[in-house]
Amino acid sequence: MNAEIIAVGSELLLGQITNTNARFLSMHLAELGINVYHHTVVGDNADQLEKAIAIAEERADLIIFSGGLGPTKDDLTKETIARHLGTELAMDEEALESIEEFFIRAKRPMTENNKKQALVLAGSDVLVNRHGMAPGMLYKHDDRVYMLLPGPPKEIEPMFQFEAKPKLAHMLNKAEVILSHVLRFYGIGEAELEDRLQDILDAQTNPTIAPLASDGEVTLRITAKTDTEEEAWELIQKEKQAILARVGDYLYGYDDDSLASKVVDLLSESGKTISAAESLTAGLFQSELAAIPGASAVLEGGVITYSEQAKKDQLGLSPELLELHGTVSEDTAIAMAEACRRKFGTDVSVALTGAAGPDAHGDQPAGTVWIGIATADGVNAYRLQLSGMRNTNRLRAVKLALSYLIRTLTNNKTRKI
Ligand code: ATP
Ligand code: MG
Repeated sequence: MNAEIIAVGSELLLGQITNTNARFLSMHLAELGINVYHHTVVGDNADQLEKAIAIAEERADLIIFSGGLGPTKDDLTKETIARHLGTELAMDEEALESIEEFFIRAKRPMTENNKKQALVLAGSDVLVNRHGMAPGMLYKHDDRVYMLLPGPPKEIEPMFQFEAKPKLAHMLNKAEVILSHVLRFYGIGEAELEDRLQDILDAQTNPTIAPLASDGEVTLRITAKTDTEEEAWELIQKEKQAILARVGDYLYGYDDDSLASKVVDLLSESGKTISAAESLTAGLFQSELAAIPGASAVLEGGVITYSEQAKKDQLGLSPELLELHGTVSEDTAIAMAEACRRKFGTDVSVALTGAAGPDAHGDQPAGTVWIGIATADGVNAYRLQLSGMRNTNRLRAVKLALSYLIRTLTNNKTRKI
């Protein structure tokens, strides 16, 4: 089976939003073994959309539409498909009921155009929308499958995953169980990881192994397809053991873990607290920790000391030290971490200072970052030389600070980052 994704929306063509739905759908279709040969984007225009449908019909067995199922005039996906295929639209009573209930709950009067959302292609398999009003549809016509999905990511993602994907798997007569397990690594680059696993990656069939690198970490997604969950899990475990025998030293977590959640876990397991003094990142580091449930047990607080004056006033850094070494320096990162640890009385304190870019900071080139980590055992500083844009550098510095913290808290001195 091969597929084409048609994303409908003028906002996409105008560059106001990114076509993340196509990316999401493609990833999941790949897991089902469905080839996606084309991504099409078309504005909210019935004629253009109809032309796009006709082209897609020439080259795809499965055409998936995203967007244009809402109540407004510019939402015309199902109307256009209905016209194109010569199919009627019919009221779906269940969808209508749930829309009416939505308005009763919200204590708002329901306008007439909202009813339009409950219209579906007559004879289609309705996909329930648990996070919005417009239902999706799966419609078979002339050996082709048309799938209509809503635009908002918070609606399309669960609808595809829980309603549409099992139906597609069934249609393909494929194994019903597709199980994925993500291994998360830090302190090793994607290239090196792939290099060490080359023969395993070359030999993969079922499970498949997909590497992905993003700020400061690399992940491997292991996906198995079989008849039962037990069998799939067994296949995954076998593959996982082979992988970890090679690169287990760099593993920090699984699935929904993140560098920040690992830090919060490590701190709370050992009953430790943390504070941060942030220059470069102006609160981003603490915000990243605070996003993790349970952060309140470990995160004491911190200071944003962006200016030189604030470093003196809030942390008591000496003018001589700042004069001699500059604000972006090993000595300053160390002094900030130590002063912050004293100020907040925490077990651990992290300091971040650097030149985010695009300009250099004095004689420190853009992207130079110093991270200080103070604990009861002493203080360490780490230098980074980043090469991204300003805000990418700031985020990356946070991720790497979290990596160094994991290393400090697990006492793994052998691991280079
Ligand atoms: P609604 O009921 O909200 O109108 P809809 O199914 O009619 O939903 P659209 O009106 O096309 O969908 O898009 C609604 C919103 O969904 C957009 O403003 C945008 O934020 C998001 N969206 C639409 N298409 C995409 C896409 N391809 N990728 C990511 N986000 C999208
Ligand atoms: Mg809309």
